[in-house]
Amino acid sequence: MAREEFDVLVIGGGVNGVGIALDAASRGLSVALVESSDFAAGTSSKSSKLIHGGLRYLEQYDFKLVREALNERELMVSTLSPHLVKPVSFLYPLQEKLKERTYVGAGMALYDALRGFKRALPWHKHLSQKRISEIAPSLRLDVITGGYQYFDAQVDDARHTMSIARTAAKYGAVITTRTRCDELVMKGKRVIGAQVTDVETGNSISVKAKTTVMAAGVWTDPLYKKFGIKPGYAVRMSKGAHIVVPGDAIKSETGVIIKTDVSVLFIIPWGDKWIVGTTDTDYDESREEPLASRDDVSYIINQANRVLEPKLRREQVIGVFAGLRPLVSTDPDSPTTKLSREHVVDSQTPGFVSIAGGKYTTYRVMAEDAVNEAINHLRKIVPDSVTETLAIIGADGYSALMNQIPRLAKLYGVDELTVEHLLNRYGSLIDEVLSPAVQRTDLLDRVVPDLPYLNAEILYAVTHEGALSVDDVLSRRTRISFEAKDQGLSVVDSIAHIIGEVLGWSAKERKASIAHYRELISRQNDILIQAKEVTEKVS
Ligand SMILES: Cc1cc2nc3c(=O)[nH]c(=O)nc-3n(C[C@H](O)[C@H](O)[C@H](O)COP(=O)(O)OP(=O)(O)OC[C@H]3O[C@@H](n4cnc5c(N)ncnc54)[C@H](O)[C@@H]3O)c2cc1C
Repeated sequence: MAREEFDVLVIGGGVNGVGIALDAASRGLSVALVESSDFAAGTSSKSSKLIHGGLRYLEQYDFKLVREALNERELMVSTLSPHLVKPVSFLYPLQEKLKERTYVGAGMALYDALRGFKRALPWHKHLSQKRISEIAPSLRLDVITGGYQYFDAQVDDARHTMSIARTAAKYGAVITTRTRCDELVMKGKRVIGAQVTDVETGNSISVKAKTTVMAAGVWTDPLYKKFGIKPGYAVRMSKGAHIVVPGDAIKSETGVIIKTDVSVLFIIPWGDKWIVGTTDTDYDESREEPLASRDDVSYIINQANRVLEPKLRREQVIGVFAGLRPLVSTDPDSPTTKLSREHVVDSQTPGFVSIAGGKYTTYRVMAEDAVNEAINHLRKIVPDSVTETLAIIGADGYSALMNQIPRLAKLYGVDELTVEHLLNRYGSLIDEVLSPAVQRTDLLDRVVPDLPYLNAEILYAVTHEGALSVDDVLSRRTRISFEAKDQGLSVVDSIAHIIGEVLGWSAKERKASIAHYRELISRQNDILIQAKEVTEKVS
């Protein structure tokens, strides 16, 4: 990075930053990306994990946003990342027979129509109360008169973001995590690169770039301030929390969406568990570590219990996570739920572009817009974006491999469910993940008995996916941090052992990585325990 002069330097390794790196690299530009923590360590690992048009934006007449997002949903499910982005069904329960049914039905028809002639996902349908009792026995039939079933898609956001980063690297982008951008390098009024620091060694270098693109999400405002550049917009933070509960806490074959006073609440199938959320509250505390508060957990459970029987109980909560929405704002007084989910590209200083806002679903469009703007600073002819047809790594051959699960199970000596699990995380890279297990059969053992992850995946996280700590592996390469009842605390030693061997850790470094993860989890757990105490008092 210190040697070359790049066409584009990207600040931030969330979905937008890595999307920009891929867009730019695949147009033939030379690209570098610096991420101060880990891929998706900010908002991009803490979303509701839905690739959706956003049914609720129809009520805000935001048809352009919905249409654009539905187009992206279609591309991801069918072409760009079918191994990672999967259709998921939702039930919208109705509480009244005529007026609500007509109103919601019209919204559903519009939602389906806005995707045009593309049809990767089924059309919505009306369900009678009787049918609901069959497919979602946990829904309260005393308040639900019928419902609509419609389809969206879901993704493991952190895995998807990291996979885009790897795809960008495949097309030549130079990408580094644990590297913080500290200041911009100026020549007169022009930005000609940035001073970046390796946060693990403290080494600092200057990276030369014709254009620097900032995709720093909720860090945008403080970075603008640090760089001494006047921004054309501000980013407000809104916190959204989720809880995770076991599969048997809710008996349903479909996800559920319910309207709340301020927004919507999703009950989302997540493997054999449920993710329930989210909240939407103004936030001005630590950007690095947003935590779900006692009130967040109570709110989510109370909202879900409006339609559930038996009711969710606090002690069923396995894990929580909270993220910060980077909402573009010009009016400091507007409530965050009313702020536009559209994105803004800002470029008022030569050699510098910034982008923020939008949704996870529209990362590709945002990246294209940011690179189009960056090109204006390059003074050279650059091809149009090609990402609309550029599949991310692992997508190639995925559907053929899904048809060969029995053969692959025999080939690798694992059961068919494990093959399916691996194909849905690595696609056609499955061979890369499992080949070390030919020599070491212990790599085919599960990390945690009741979760499908294999030791081979932990090894692969450090050999191929850029993981550098116990937290990277448990929180983002796998989702053990919110899927395991003990957040993976019982396996931190074995994880540290596997990854430490590859990273060449000393005993001290191994201990430090474990301690760091334990601290993160204990702060989360404290909040859960407090939440439990409060409920017990209330009930
Ligand atoms: C609760 C919640 C639910 C959501 N649900 C959905 C959903 O279901 N579907 C959907 O489409 N969207 C959803 N979103 C929105 C979506 O998650 C975000 O729009 C998206 O993840 C933002 O990505 P980003 O790359 O802009 O920001 P981030 O992912 O936050 O990335 C910014 C990166 O910049 C890095 N950085 C900061 N400072 C520096 C520096 N000095 N040097 C280098 N790097 C730096 C950070 O470490 C971070 O990794 C949700 C958001 C929230 C909060």
